[in-house]
Amino acid sequence: MTGADSEESSRGEELGEAMHRFMAELYPICRSITGGGVRETLHAIQKRIPLQIYEVPSGTKAFDWTVPLEWNVTDAYVMNQAGKRVIDFKAHNLHLMSYSSPVRKKMPLADLRPHLFTLPDHPEWIPYRTSYYKESWGFCLRHADFERLPEEEYEVVIDSRLQPGSLTYGEAYLPGESSDEILISCHVCHPSLCNDNLSGIAVAVKLAETMAARQRRYSYRFLFIPGTIGSITWLAQNEQTVSRIKHGLVLTGVGDAGRITYKKSRQGNAEVDRAMAHVLKHVEEAFTLIDFFPYGYDERQYCSPGFDLPVGCFMRTPHGHYPEYHSSADNLDFVKPDSLAQSYAQCLRLFELLEGNRIYVNQNPKCEPQLGRRGLYRTVAGQQEKQWTELALFWVLNASDGRHTLLDIAERADLSFDKIQSAAEALLEVGLLKECPRPESTQWRSDHEYGLL
Ligand code: ZN
Repeated sequence: MTGADSEESSRGEELGEAMHRFMAELYPICRSITGGGVRETLHAIQKRIPLQIYEVPSGTKAFDWTVPLEWNVTDAYVMNQAGKRVIDFKAHNLHLMSYSSPVRKKMPLADLRPHLFTLPDHPEWIPYRTSYYKESWGFCLRHADFERLPEEEYEVVIDSRLQPGSLTYGEAYLPGESSDEILISCHVCHPSLCNDNLSGIAVAVKLAETMAARQRRYSYRFLFIPGTIGSITWLAQNEQTVSRIKHGLVLTGVGDAGRITYKKSRQGNAEVDRAMAHVLKHVEEAFTLIDFFPYGYDERQYCSPGFDLPVGCFMRTPHGHYPEYHSSADNLDFVKPDSLAQSYAQCLRLFELLEGNRIYVNQNPKCEPQLGRRGLYRTVAGQQEKQWTELALFWVLNASDGRHTLLDIAERADLSFDKIQSAAEALLEVGLLKECPRPESTQWRSDHEYGLL
């Protein structure tokens, strides 16, 4: 390990720990698709990044959906005859099914049982259940505790309120030189669950902090929204301006110890898909690329056929592929600071690639320019320190005809984007390249897709 490597790794460790600490701060909050828990979460995010908080009233139409009543809960428990809480929302917020309607009555175990949910295969874990669009109530508990409940009468109390209110979401917009946008979206609707929910929030907030301090070509929009109804509502309210989104990522499940998985956008070959695949190929030892499928997180809405936005999903182990998913075992121990730091680093590399993915025109296109005369060929002093290679210089010169991005060239040359980019910088410095504006089309597609490379 060189000095620079160890410095980078200790910075990564520090970043991972910091993101994990932020998750620990948000962990106890009882979130759902609406209500005080989402607002409290957004206020905690607002302390770190410039976040605008929006309230969309219950009953607002959003395409085929309607913003639901707002749900809030103060207390919920099941008490035995001895006056002991045998299931207690205050001990763990997963104990209460999200969106449970208010209840206050006594009942025998036989009547209570249909409202109790457990995981018999994992008797020490509490499951996560919701009932957003069907009025119902329920409790989730450890199967081991369920089996110990004697036949007797129980007092069931759910002190919740389902009332007209609003759906709350947060948006951090960082303007860049161009109004073209990179969208980052994560869900904020799960209660005490870490990988599913909090890991995406922690990485998105850190990315927003970093990008806020940088010079940006693109504008960045970070969305913190309740899953499904949040993205549907956001798309309904922003339909006129979504064409500005040139690249996007849904961030979810980015903290478990598994390898990185990137799910491509519906377009399949959008610039963000190619850029992410390129970043992972040149940096990661093992990763998985999967094609789009219409199930999963909010990419389902961004990639619905009426929008078809270039939005992929960046995650580690896909949801449902780890047993801890949607249970109390998806806790702070399940999420690793190292994984958070690595996920953050790859997303940042993606942004850097997209920012640097420009088009140039060779200013000396008739035969090769004489590189030696310009200090770019073999004889150059301190050659071992340069990032680029002669091969990279030749590739950039040959393919820079105003139609190919640096990513097109890196892919074709099978060299890392960094090498191609630094070759382009060296050529720019000696006047052999000139930047060429990218076409102003709303749906930029590179020549690569038209088979020109
Ligand atoms: Zn989930």
